[in-house]
Amino acid sequence: MSLPVVAIVGRPNVGKSTIFNRLAGERIAIVQDEPGITRDRIYTQSDWNGERFHVIDTGGLEFGEQDEILDHIRNQAELALEESDVILFVVDGREGITSGDEEVARLLHKTNKPVIIVANKIDHHKHADLAYEFYQLGFEHVVAVSSLHGTGTGDMLDLTVSLFPEKIEETYDEETIKVSLIGRPNVGKSSLVNAILGEERVIVSPVAGTTRDAIDTPFTHDGESIVLIDTAGLRKRGKVYESIEKFSVLRAMQAIERSDVCLIVLDGERGIAEQDKKIAGYAHEAGRAAIFVVNKWDAVEKDEKTMDRFRKEIRFQFQFMSYAPILFTSAKTKQRVGKVLPKVKEVAEQHAMRISTSVINQVMQDAITMTPPPSDKGRRFKVQYATQVAVKPPTMVLFVNDPELAHFSYLRYLENQLREAFAFEGTPLKILLRKKN
Ligand code: GDP
Ligand code: GDP
Repeated sequence: MSLPVVAIVGRPNVGKSTIFNRLAGERIAIVQDEPGITRDRIYTQSDWNGERFHVIDTGGLEFGEQDEILDHIRNQAELALEESDVILFVVDGREGITSGDEEVARLLHKTNKPVIIVANKIDHHKHADLAYEFYQLGFEHVVAVSSLHGTGTGDMLDLTVSLFPEKIEETYDEETIKVSLIGRPNVGKSSLVNAILGEERVIVSPVAGTTRDAIDTPFTHDGESIVLIDTAGLRKRGKVYESIEKFSVLRAMQAIERSDVCLIVLDGERGIAEQDKKIAGYAHEAGRAAIFVVNKWDAVEKDEKTMDRFRKEIRFQFQFMSYAPILFTSAKTKQRVGKVLPKVKEVAEQHAMRISTSVINQVMQDAITMTPPPSDKGRRFKVQYATQVAVKPPTMVLFVNDPELAHFSYLRYLENQLREAFAFEGTPLKILLRKKN
């Protein structure tokens, strides 16, 4: 199921990024540990009373060279209108309505999507009345907040969450492998989809009725039920959409959310870009299985070492995803396209793999005996008991004497030992620590 999207729009300096950071806050703190992951300051996930959602700070987007303020505001608004479920329209509550606000309002009136005016910078409750003025902009919801102090943001979030669209239940059963192709524009995602679907053993199923399904492609391959999930490449959109590489991240996140396996498509000809790392990082953090697909391999000038060099470059650039297998394809000549689905099935199986508790404990004990944890000021990390608590991705809980004593590098070592024993090819592993009483 894809998560609702909340877009933050408004003219410069009203406090959009302050609100964004507040929404992102906790999560950024949690994931910062992991080396090699590039943080995005524009997209994040947030959570309010257990409801998860994506947040975009459209103010942080770059829309190419022109970037006149008005154009910028227009592009932001267009993006919000197209891609979000709820729009937070931020204004400076102390300054009153400006012409910039009126321009944003005019654009946002083109949509039926819920718009909440967030009158920000109302730092004292005695100034709360200032927010009323903004009803003149013609939207139903106005909330007064101080994102600096955090006052009013709870009400803002209650309202936001209450305006989310009804959830659309996923129509595919547990057995169906849900696969997305994610990557920058023009790396060849749609070409690959067509090449995969053109394979002999693929039997495309009749499309189910709902609108959401119409953009997915369910099929069977050697008796296995698989669905390819819509991403940017499948639906070519308007001009803004095409021109913003940044935008591909949001589409990717939504597709990732709904998939078991992500095919991270890279352009063999143009090489790896910063954007690829962000997209891959989201798949990793979301706990999805992943395969790197280096496409356009036909167009690469190569000798016998080229593939190996590219492989090393991937391992170097995506250190946090050393588990993901790498395929080299050409959607154009169909070279090795036939390897994609068999690999998808393999990693999907590993992603859903369950290991018995006794076997896990055996592996853990052997690992600890072989390389005992280092001691920290005389205290040593101890693992008493380990068990797998979930699949997709495989999630292990270690009951330990004191989680504080665990070092990242030692956990990495334990993870590697688990991988040595059970492979887990293509899937991230989650290791959670619990204090044993
Ligand atoms: P953006 O350009 O819309 O993203 O605005 P920023 O988030 O960068 O904020 C612009 C300025 O307003 C910064 O100096 C913030 O510290 C300040 N600011 C943001 N929110 C508040 C608030 O609630 N109260 C006050 N007093 N200042 C704020
Ligand atoms: P998407 O935006 O990621 O969906 O990319 P497209 O599938 O639309 O492909 C972008 C461009 O790359 C198109 O001109 C394709 O013809 C071209 N292309 C896609 N795959 C290959 C490939 O394997 N080899 C070569 N040489 N060109 C490709």
